Formats: sequence, structure tokens, C-alpha cells
Amino acid sequence: MGDILVIGGGVIGLLTARELADAGAEVTLVEMGQTGRESSWAGGGIISPLYPWRYSDSVTALAAWSQGVYFDLCEALLAETGSDPELLRSGLLVLDEDEHEQARAWADTHGARLQVIDTAALRELEPGLGPAPKNALWMPEIAQVRNPRLAGALRRSIEKRVRIREQEEVTELLVDKDRATGAATRNGQIRADQVVVCTGAWTAKLLARLGAKPEIQPVRGQIMLFLAKPDQVRHIVLFRERYVIPRQDGRILIGSTLEHTGFLKATTAEAKEELYRIAVDIFPLLKRTPIEDHWAGLRPGSPGGVPYIGRFPGIEGLFFNAGHFRNGLVTAPASARLVADLMLGREPIVDPAPYSLAAPR
Ligand SMILES: Cc1cc2nc3c(=O)[nH]c(=O)nc-3n(C[C@H](O)[C@H](O)[C@H](O)COP(=O)(O)OP(=O)(O)OC[C@H]3O[C@@H](n4cnc5c(N)ncnc54)[C@H](O)[C@@H]3O)c2cc1C
Repeated sequence: MGDILVIGGGVIGLLTARELADAGAEVTLVEMGQTGRESSWAGGGIISPLYPWRYSDSVTALAAWSQGVYFDLCEALLAETGSDPELLRSGLLVLDEDEHEQARAWADTHGARLQVIDTAALRELEPGLGPAPKNALWMPEIAQVRNPRLAGALRRSIEKRVRIREQEEVTELLVDKDRATGAATRNGQIRADQVVVCTGAWTAKLLARLGAKPEIQPVRGQIMLFLAKPDQVRHIVLFRERYVIPRQDGRILIGSTLEHTGFLKATTAEAKEELYRIAVDIFPLLKRTPIEDHWAGLRPGSPGGVPYIGRFPGIEGLFFNAGHFRNGLVTAPASARLVADLMLGREPIVDPAPYSLAAPR
């Protein structure tokens, strides 16, 4: 099988390294900062695409496969490491009143549980809501994960069997006679028989020198955190592209912005104000709740949110698994399994064609 180098230690890189190590490969993971501190830390952790009916079947296929294994994965991580990723089946309420037909048709096709409920049922589920629509969508099976804890548990699960090199930026991919041979960092070269690029928003930069590159660009997202008490908000609530997520300990996230500001990761006062206004409109009780934090992360944006997973054309042994945009947490287990299948010559879990570099998006 040879040595494998995974570049990038977000959830995608960590899970890819875990899949490969589980199959018996000798794996090294190299990360320019600390593992799990970029987009994978900053995300909301909803284990579903937002408005899933708006996505192509290729995104749904990865999300559905992952949703089917997430509970087992988190249980296994807890048993292995003692760290709980706090996967919770909180259910998702969508307050927008349009798209109900589209949502129902999508749910019928894909076997997802989705109901249209009236105001009374909505208020029973979520008594703290402010103004409520006449009808809402209720998806009781949607879960959330506490993503920083997921990344921490993944790291602990692999650190005894994967060499992890942090604070080491890959500056160049090494290729000899159309074959990947490893990567260069400021500390020297890391030799490997196969290389998989899992560098999130930074992927196009790293692959640029090789000619073909994926259309991945950073898309900033800001989130605010309220220090609320358990049960003040009970379910994930989505309204006009913004969402409220109640964590197990009561903390409440409100997110998120979508901003094209390059690699600038700073937070802004405007976004804080906007998120606050939306949060207290949906849940007036948040007016009396202290704000604990506000942060930003860089999503690996891609056309249609369809990730790039597969072989780099023309270079033997070079693979990528990046560009998961708004759905990198929900699609991570399937993406990691798929790229590992391709690298190890196994039957792939889903048809890999839609995720190739050349596939139309
Ligand atoms: C505000 C916000 C909310 C979100 N909400 C959700 C959600 O609810 N559900 C969901 O599924 N997804 C959500 N996402 C998206 C999700 O977080 C991302 O799609 C996912 O984390 C991408 O994982 P990744 O490992 O590819 O990227 P990252 O976590 O960014 O990891 C990439 C890693 O590569 C490293 N790296 C980059 N270049 C190099 C290099 N040259 N050498 C070495 N290392 C390098 C980086 O330091 C980084 O650690 C959200 C994202 C944001 C920002």
C-alpha cells in the first residue's frame, strides 16, 4: 500500500487519515496550523445541508451516506477516546413559508422525514419563538454535532497510529515524471507514495502550480454564541438563510454570514449587529441572554457546493478531497470513505464521477 501523506488537518483530512489508517496504511498528516482549528472549528455542525432540496443529487448522496453512519462514528470516537462529539438529534424547523412543495417532493424522492406543521404544533415544539408563520417544515431526524469536539475526538483517535506534523505548511507538491512523490515544507521534504490534498479553502493555491485547479475559494462565515440555558431553545431553527442551533449545554449559536472577502478571517461589527437582530427577532428571550463569543471561519466554497473528490488528472498517486463549502461536516464521513476507496482500489461507496475535477458543476 505504501506511505500516504494527507495534507490538511480539518475534519476532512482527519477523517481521511483515519479511514486510510483503519485500512492498514502508513499515514502522515501535515497541517500548517493546529488540526481542527479552521473551518471545521468555526462551523455550525448541522448534519444536513441547509434547505437540502436546493442541492444536486451528488451532494445529497454524500450527505445521506454520512447521516447513516454519524451516530456509529460518534459512539466509536467516544469509546476510543473518551471525548464526546455531542451528536444530538435536535430536529430542524424551517420557518420560511415558500418552497414547501419542493421540499415535500425532495423528501418523497429521498425517503427523508419531513412534515408541514401549523402554528400550534410549531409553538408546542418551540415555545420561545417570536412571531410564528402559519406553516413550517419539521424534519425531526436532523442532527447536529459539536464540531470542535468532533475534530478533537478525531485527532485523539488517530494520534497513536498516524504521524501528525503541525505548524508545518506544505509549500509545494512534489511530482516526478507524472508521479506524486510527496510534499515540500519549510522543514524539508516528506516523501510518500500517495498524496491526498485536504486543504479546504486553501486548495486552489496549493494545486495552482500543477496547471488544472479546482474552483475553490474562501467564503467567510460569521457566527455568534449566546450563553443561554438548556431548553430555552430546543431545536435547530432555520429562517431566511440564518439558523439558530441549541447545544446540549444550552449555549445557542446563530449563524451565519456568506462573505467573499478572500482569506480575511476577521469578524465585523456589522455582522454581529445583523446576527443579533435576527436572533432576537426569532427568539425574543435572547434579548436577556449574554453574548459569549463571535467568530469567523473560511468555508471552502465551490460551485453548487459539490466537493472535489478523486484523482488529480495526469499525476499518478495524487488525490484531492476538498471544496465542501457549507456541508463539510455533514458530508465528511462519505467523502473520506470515497477518497480512501479510490486510493486503495476498493469498490467506491458512491459513483465518484460527479466529484471529479472535470465534472460540470
Ligand atoms: C460559519 C460556518 C458555518 C458552517 N456550518 C456548517 C454546518 O452547519 N454543517 C456543515 O456540514 N458544514 C458547515 N460548515 C462548513 C464546514 O465547516 C466545512 O465545509 C468543513 O469544515 C471543511 O473541512 P476541511 O477539513 O475541508 O477544511 P478546514 O477545516 O478549513 O481544514 C483545512 C485545513 O488545511 C490546512 N491547510 C491549508 N493549506 C495548507 C498547507 N499548504 N499545508 C498544510 N496545511 C494546510 C488548514 O490550516 C486547515 O486546518 C460551516 C462553515 C462555516 C465557516
